Parts: sequence; C-alpha cells; structure tokens
Amino acid sequence: MMYMTKMMIEIRNLLQKVGQSSTVSLPSIVVIGSQSSGKSSVLEAIVGHEFLPKGNNMITRRPIELTLVNDPKVSADYGEFPDLGLHRITDFSLIQKNLTELNQSVPERECVSDDPIRLTIHSPRVPDLSLIDLPGYIQVAGENQPRELKRKISELCDKYIRGPNIILAISAADVDLANSTALQASRRVDPRGERTIGVITKMDLVEPEKGAAILSDKQYPLRLGYVGVISRAPQQTGLFKRDTGALLRQISKNEKSYFSTHPEFGPDSGVNIGTVTLRKKLMHVLEQQMSSKLQDTTAAIQRELEETSYQFKVQYNEEPMTAEAYLAASLDDFKHAFKRFASSFGRPQMQQLLKEALDQRVLDQLAAKYWNKPIEDLSPAPFEPENIADLPKADPDSQFWHMQLDTATSALTRLGVGRLAATVVANAIQANVDKLVNKSTFAKHPSARQVINEAAATVLADRSYTTSDGIEFSLKPYKYEVDIQPQEWSQGRDHVAGVLKMELDQCQRAMGNLENSVGGKRKLKEVMNFVDKARKGEIVVEGETRNGAGGFSAALLQKGREAVFLRDRADIINMRIMAVKSRQCKSLENKYYCPEVFLDAVATKLTQTSVLFLNVEMLNDFYARFPREVESKLGEQMLGGGLERFASEDPRIRRHLDLIRRKELLELVLSKIEGLRRFHRADDDVAGAH
Ligand code: GDP
Repeated sequence: MMYMTKMMIEIRNLLQKVGQSSTVSLPSIVVIGSQSSGKSSVLEAIVGHEFLPKGNNMITRRPIELTLVNDPKVSADYGEFPDLGLHRITDFSLIQKNLTELNQSVPERECVSDDPIRLTIHSPRVPDLSLIDLPGYIQVAGENQPRELKRKISELCDKYIRGPNIILAISAADVDLANSTALQASRRVDPRGERTIGVITKMDLVEPEKGAAILSDKQYPLRLGYVGVISRAPQQTGLFKRDTGALLRQISKNEKSYFSTHPEFGPDSGVNIGTVTLRKKLMHVLEQQMSSKLQDTTAAIQRELEETSYQFKVQYNEEPMTAEAYLAASLDDFKHAFKRFASSFGRPQMQQLLKEALDQRVLDQLAAKYWNKPIEDLSPAPFEPENIADLPKADPDSQFWHMQLDTATSALTRLGVGRLAATVVANAIQANVDKLVNKSTFAKHPSARQVINEAAATVLADRSYTTSDGIEFSLKPYKYEVDIQPQEWSQGRDHVAGVLKMELDQCQRAMGNLENSVGGKRKLKEVMNFVDKARKGEIVVEGETRNGAGGFSAALLQKGREAVFLRDRADIINMRIMAVKSRQCKSLENKYYCPEVFLDAVATKLTQTSVLFLNVEMLNDFYARFPREVESKLGEQMLGGGLERFASEDPRIRRHLDLIRRKELLELVLSKIEGLRRFHRADDDVAGAH
C-alpha cells in the first residue's frame, strides 16, 4: 500500500512539471491553522525534525510544498530544494535558514506570494506524504503588519483548500472550536466535512474531559474525524543536538505519559490521540483520496495527451526536435554558409580591397606633393613654384620634380602597409562573418552571436601581428627602389585614370551639396567670386570679423572657400586626367611627368606582395581555425543548462520543445499510472483470494 502513495506522489510531482495549463492534479494535504495554533509544531513532529522558520514576527509568506519520501536506504535524513538546485542537505538548521531567507525574499508590500517553495525530505522514518504548509491565518493584524495581509493570506489559503486536496485543519484545544479559523475556512469549501481532518493541538492545556469532548465533537462533525496531539517539542537538554528521529520519539513519549494517565483517552474512549496516530491517518487518507482520484485523473491525462498529440501533429507534423538537434543543425548550416563564403573570398578579393585602400593613400600623396593650393585665408595666394598644369612641359632633369616623386614613393612604401593590409582584410572578414551570422539561425540568439563574432576576432587577432610584420619584411626592398616594368606601367595608367575620374565625381558631388546648403548655384558663385577676388588682392578686406566680410556671413565665407578649393581641385584633376591619357604618359621614361601612373604601379606591386603573404598567414589560417573555434566556444556556452536556454531563445523552437516535453511527460505519467493500476489489481486479487 505504501508503494501506491509513493508512486502517486511521484506522479503528482510529474504532473506539476507538465505546467500551469494542465487541468489535471492529484490531491495533496494542505495544512491550515491560525497563528500560534501549533501548526509548525505538528508538521515538525510528523517530519521528525525542526526545520520551519521561527521567531518573533515571523510570518510565513509563501506556501511550502513539502514532499516526504520514505527511503529505507537513506542513512542520514536530508532535504532538497529542487528548484534551487540544492541537494542532500543533511543539516536541518541549514534547511531552516534557507526557508527563512526564501520567506523573507517576498517584499513587505506584496504581503504574501503564491509562488511555492518546493522542499523534499528523504528519510527512512517519514511516511510518503505530500503536504503544503500555508501561511497561518492572522486574527488581529499587528501594529506593523499591513492591513492587507489578513485578506491576502485568506485568499491564498482559499486557493489551496479546493478539492481534491485534503485539509488538515489545526485548532488549539484551549480555543473554542467555534472560533477556529481553520475549521471556518474548511467548512466554506467542504461543508459536509468529507475531506477535512481536524487536528486539536495543546491537549495538555485543557482539562481531560474537555479535551476528550472536543475530539468526539458532534457540533462540527468531520467524516475523517479529529486527532488530539501534544506536539510541543520537549526542551533540548545538554550541549548536543537531538539525534535523528528523536523528536518524534520524545513527542510520542510525552503524549503517551499524558494520555495514559487520563482514562478519558483510554482504549475504549473512541477518540483518536497522538502524533503517531495522526501520521498513520494522513497516510491512509491521502492514499484513499489518491486512489479514488486515479480513474478521473487517468481520463483527464488521456484527454490532455490526445490534445497535445493532436497539436504536435497539426503544428509540427510530428517532427521530432531536441535542443541538441537544433544546435547541431544551426551549426551545420552556418558552417556550410561559411564554406561558401570561404570559396568566394580569396586572393582576388583581398587584392581588390587592399588596392582600394592604397588608391586612397596614392591620392593623399598626390594631393600633398602635387595638387594642393592651400587657401587658408582671404589674403593673396602664396607664391607657387610651378603650376602643376605645366608639369608635362617641365625640364626632364628638374631636381625639384625628381625629389617630389621620390619622396611620394618612399612615403607610400613606408606608410605601414603591413598593418594596413592586415587590418583591411581582418575587418572585411569580420564584417562578412557578421553578415553570415545575420543570415543564419544564430541571428535570433544574441549570446551565441556574440560568441561567434568573438571567435572570429580572436582567431584574426592571433595572426594580425605576425602577418603585418611578415608583410613589412617582404616589402623591405621596395623601400629603397621600385622597379616598374612597361606592362605594369600601362596597367597603372589605365587604372589610375579610373581612380582620378572617381575622385573628380566626388568633388562634383561635394560641390553639389555645397550649392544646396547655401541655397543655390548663384549664391555660391557670388561667395566664390568674393573669395577669389580677395585672394588675388583685387579686393582689400579690412580683416575678417566673426560676423563675416563683404556682406557674407562667416559660415557662408567658409563654404565659399570650400567651394573654391573643390573647384580648383576638380580643375587640376581634370587636367591630370588629360595628362595621364596623353602621349607623354604612355611611356615609362616620362615617369616624372606622370606621378599618378607611377604611384599607382607602385601601389599595385605593394598590394600583390602583401596579398601573397595575407593568403598564407591570415586567410588560410582563419579558414582552418575559425569553424573549430566556433564549435568549441559554443560548446562551452552550452554547458550547465546553456543548451536549453539557447534553444528556447527562439520562440518557435521553444514552443516545439515544450510541446514535445509535455507529450513525453504525459506519456510517462500514463505509463506509471498503468503500472500502478496493474499493481493495484494484483493487490486486490491477493486480498480477494484470502
Ligand atoms: P504556529 O504559529 O501555528 O506554527 O504555532 P507553533 O507551532 O509555533 O506553536 C505556537 C506555540 O505553541 C509555541 O510556543 C509552541 O511551543 C506551543 N505549542 C505548540 N504545540 C503545543 C502543545 O501541544 N502543547 C503546548 N503546551 N504548547 C504547544
């Protein structure tokens, strides 16, 4: 018979896991009583340990769902808080401390919470029981207790004392039963007294005749009857803690010595007395109630299982799903996408990226050494040694132009191409990884996404220093001399014309923006005229103030200067495009006349050499290591419940997994019930045979 309750409690706990929406529930014993009725003492006597929060003003604020598991193999009794992951606590004062803290975690203004604390106690000495300890009813609200408290406790208790639960109504013998809050509450929900057990505590505090009269009460009859107890824990003596199981022994010894001296409680009196009797009664009643609910429960679980299976079919076509499988599939898809990217991103792509970065540096050098006409203020233009427009006609031996080209070339080779190349490629890879993640299922998982991006950054950073160093080393010879071949020259000439054209377009776009910002072409022209005249000294400006000059505001003049600069830059670039395309620039001999072509050819050489290095040192290494790094870092993240957290970040997967889990749990419960019924039948058959 014990087996039955044990299994039923197990099934009850499984059903709780099925979740809130489950309409199925198996009975439990709920313990109610007003404050100081001796409720805690009774519970502790049943368990055989002191473990409930005590102390002045200590009000239980959360229900405690207590599962007692009879386990003959246990050598030292222990408790577990399954929701907190706290296991095998053999020190019951620690359990008491935990309960006190959990109890205090409910904010004062909320008064009480209906979020239960689950506690399981294993012992060879406890019966299999499922008990729920509820906050004690308060009669008169204390000074510093919120007025709400009384009402909220009542509401919470009402929720739990509904059927099919059994009510353990605790009342003290020294309080008139008519005033027992516990019995009043029970009568409201169980008017015929069919599922209420009355417990009368403090039997030692009333005259024996009166006590016996309460226990055989006819005024408030309960089908399950009353049990009288004296459950005050006897004072501990000596320095040592009570040994395991001693509490119940002491209490029942105490009870025996009292009850046996009063004939009112004798064997023929017909009253139920003692904590041991109470324990037996609880086991018996719980089992009866559970087995009477077995049929209904089974039917309800079957209905729920049918509904769940139906949902599984229509919503997911019965497709199996686990968190592991989801992760594996996501990782697989990602790796495939990465492979596709790897086969599309190689030397030509790096070449292009790096060349574009160097094109910009070439333009910077050209601007610094050849094109710039600084317009710092409105004073006449500074003396300019030669006009760039005259460059093709310049003296071939002019030392000035030789020096300009040499310093520009040298600046280009020494600007830290190694670092630039490694950074440009690493950034491009990182951006592509981010794009791949965005398109993958990981896009819905912020922490996994971060892990992947970090994995990429780590692998890239690992190689960045050696790569840039290696590149620098291989570029060393170019820092002294760059030898350009005729074919390289003609390719440079084609390419740089395009670059210049793009630069020209940009100047023109910037000019357009300026026109718009000042309110039109004409307005901008006016300001530009003024700036030009001032520069040539045709207008004498009496010092520009903060308010501007010549009727133009300071902001407008600034824009005018920018426009003049852009116009001049565009003029020069136009001229240089013509020069590059001209016959002179066809031949390598005229390199001093055509610095654009020469610098472009140099940039190409730098690019090619860098890319050879990047390919081996950075790209191939990344392609080999990144997928492994992602796998191992994600693996770490999935430890300790991480896998479930990961899978349930995607609501679609979470629903899918929940449904499967629910279905599996219901199936498990049904199979357990089936086993139980077989056992029950066999038991009945044996009983019938006797
Ligand atoms: P709760 O507030 O309902 O949980 O009540 P407690 O279990 O804390 O008991 C309140 C007080 O009554 C405590 O001082 C207990 O020692 C005392 N008490 C509990 N049961 C008995 C009993 O059977 N006899 C006597 N004399 N005192 C008891």
